[in-house]
Amino acid sequence: MDLDPVLRSILGCPHCKAPLEEHQGPPPEVCCGRCLRAWPVEEGVPQLVPEQERPLTP
Ligand SMILES: [Zn+2]
Repeated sequence: MDLDPVLRSILGCPHCKAPLEEHQGPPPEVCCGRCLRAWPVEEGVPQLVPEQERPLTP
């Protein structure tokens, strides 16, 4: 998965605004290490919506 550089630069956690980590997967996801949440990436586009959010278990 290669995120568009512009898209990557504006990516931030919807909750705490921290930069998101990319996980190649599968499945590809972006994760917030601060609030321990993850969102799926579909066709290179992170789905940063509450419906798609899942908790990360440490
Ligand atoms: Zn966060």
